[in-house]
Amino acid sequence: MNPRALRGAELEYGRFFLPGPTEVHPEVLHAQTRAMVSHRGEASQAFMRELQVGLKRVFVTERPVFISTSSATGLMEAAVRNAGRTRVLSLVNGAFSKRFADIARACGLAVDEVEIPWGEAHDPEAVAERLRERSYDAVTMAHSETSTGVLNDIRTLAGVVRQHDDTLVLVDSVSGFGAAEVRPDEWGIDFLLTGSQKAFALPPGLAFGVASERMMARAATAPNRGVYFDLVTFAEDHDKDQSPTTPALSVLFALEVQLERMREEGMDARWARHELMAEMTWGWVDEMNKTGVGLEIVAPPGFRSPAVTAVRAPEGMTGPEVVDRVADRGWLVGGAMES
Ligand SMILES: *Cc1c(COP(=O)(O)O)cnc(C)c1O
Repeated sequence: MNPRALRGAELEYGRFFLPGPTEVHPEVLHAQTRAMVSHRGEASQAFMRELQVGLKRVFVTERPVFISTSSATGLMEAAVRNAGRTRVLSLVNGAFSKRFADIARACGLAVDEVEIPWGEAHDPEAVAERLRERSYDAVTMAHSETSTGVLNDIRTLAGVVRQHDDTLVLVDSVSGFGAAEVRPDEWGIDFLLTGSQKAFALPPGLAFGVASERMMARAATAPNRGVYFDLVTFAEDHDKDQSPTTPALSVLFALEVQLERMREEGMDARWARHELMAEMTWGWVDEMNKTGVGLEIVAPPGFRSPAVTAVRAPEGMTGPEVVDRVADRGWLVGGAMES
């Protein structure tokens, strides 16, 4: 690890630009210093009920929002364990959508992939064709593919998958949620998952999932859903305003504050603000090009994530060099993913 990457702690607020963890507002950070409480009993149940009100608002859903004390990868495993019986189709266009396929395989499922070049977005028609060739229990996909900055059109893709009654739509919106519009109920997403530390702008430690009724019906008969990520258990505990195991309480305290901040801003305004920030970034790259620096945005116009912009380093300079030189000027940006 580059020691300069640890500089985050010394930076003034507003200069920390990793895709995740993202910078956390001081007010949200501070909420974590609250004293511990029991995670059982009436007070904690009231707290959990209140969190659900805020969570449903930001996830634009009427469904329960499951809170998992894990990183987002835990709920990627939950997605395939609860939805998969024998075979899934994975839409791969970068490192995280590839990870989704790998997790499904590791959980004992047969996995077919629609793999397109990294940096491109999935074509709904090509996916429709694959779904006509064979039946699948579920289709996995990434909303905002953090490794390339590509935003897949999950709304249209979900519509295509939904033509097949028995095929569930599983969406990793880890870097998408909180920055890009997402409406799981309206768009027919059977399982939408995200983590706390990307555009949710919370510390790491929690993951969130919204499961459709179809997903819960499938989970009830899923042969291999395990223990920690059993969505049936999540639903049962949700109904009692509890969590299955001891939750990361400090991050829940931060969540309470962040949900209030998001309520004040409004999700439409939040999405618009991220779009504007992304456009400013893309505009800067265009400006640099005009001066002959030779930068290139990986994702094509129309399929760019409002949360993450991946830029190819100019000729003759490596990614880590760029990161270092930006750090020397007092800003922290992420380098390429090390795989
Ligand atoms: C960060 C990220 C993940 C993994 O999240 P963890 O919380 O580290 O498990 C998965 N998918 C995408 C698109 C991500 O950006």
